[in-house]
Amino acid sequence: MRGMTTPEPQPASHEDLTPATRIVALGREERAPGSQVGAPLVLTSTYVADGPANYARNGNPTWSAFEEALGSLEGGDALVFGSGMAAVAAVLSFVPVGGTVVVPHAPYSGVVVTLGERAARGELTVRHVEVTDVDEVVAALDGADLLWLESPTNPLLEIADLPALLSAARERGVLTVVDNTFATPLLQQPLALGADLVMHSVTKYLSGHSDVILGAVITTRDEAGQARNARLQRHRSLYGAIAGPFETWLALRGLRTLHVRLERACANAATLAERLTTHPGVTRTRYPGFGAIISFEIDGSAEQAEVVAATTRIVVNSTSLGAVETQIERRRRQPGEPEAVPVNLLRLSVGIEDVEDLWADLDHAIRVATA
Ligand code: PLP
Repeated sequence: MRGMTTPEPQPASHEDLTPATRIVALGREERAPGSQVGAPLVLTSTYVADGPANYARNGNPTWSAFEEALGSLEGGDALVFGSGMAAVAAVLSFVPVGGTVVVPHAPYSGVVVTLGERAARGELTVRHVEVTDVDEVVAALDGADLLWLESPTNPLLEIADLPALLSAARERGVLTVVDNTFATPLLQQPLALGADLVMHSVTKYLSGHSDVILGAVITTRDEAGQARNARLQRHRSLYGAIAGPFETWLALRGLRTLHVRLERACANAATLAERLTTHPGVTRTRYPGFGAIISFEIDGSAEQAEVVAATTRIVVNSTSLGAVETQIERRRRQPGEPEAVPVNLLRLSVGIEDVEDLWADLDHAIRVATA
């Protein structure tokens, strides 16, 4: 067409765009006439020799698409793993034999159990700390190899002073990781606050639809981060901690709406938290003022808390979080759950349903259980 100028090519980086736009735009093929708009789902175990990847335990284009989008949101380089726990194990591979890990009293129970088992085998030492007490955490850092942080914590929703703790660890040469599953990169970016590593249970908010188990680790973009990234990739390949391409494709599809889902879930959570606080059947509500998880203790026993979870009609009694549907669980029903978690505590992962329907359902269940 005469008179039309060829448009300038799009900039390769999208870092100038807001996270909401990057979530939608990243992890796609470069635009060209006829190129596919949807991200590729590549199912292959191997590749024709002499290309960029040789064998699919080492690389997959669907992983790369997801990693590009997640890495951009966290401000680093992402690697997808077969589960959150595979990501945890990959991070723990940085701890030398006989090393020391500083960890909150009550982080996600899988972390407590895996560290406890390794400590029992004499592989490492664990120092448990009150994560809300900066002085206590800093005092535990002497001679430590890894500071494990989770904020908000699961399920007590305790908040760590990340900038203070991360800078104290850096001064002492202690590697740091933040489990950012509860906050998501839209509410908190630990690398920008000074963390060396971020990990996620992608199973939760990032994928958001209760249909995949996946994990991720994100490294910083500096030289040290690149070296850690290479080491983590090696761990993923050699230990086979790899993600299924289909699960990764689903996770990327879910990630596209994270900002919209989270906005609604957070608004619902703020409303429910306020109402739970004054509910006659509730003795304590934990809600950090952001995010979409609330933990509350009912005026009654563990058995009565179980009745709440069993009575709700919309809210699902199930052991996960971060999905479109609202989920509830009495956490101490899990054998590995730390004793710091009260037996009558219910964790509520607020979804995107109508908030009045949710409230009617919860209010009814709490009244039935505490009558
Ligand atoms: N970290 C947190 C905060 C979690 O809640 C979970 C799972 O519940 C994990 C890690 C482990 O992730 P996954 O279940 O994907 O292995």
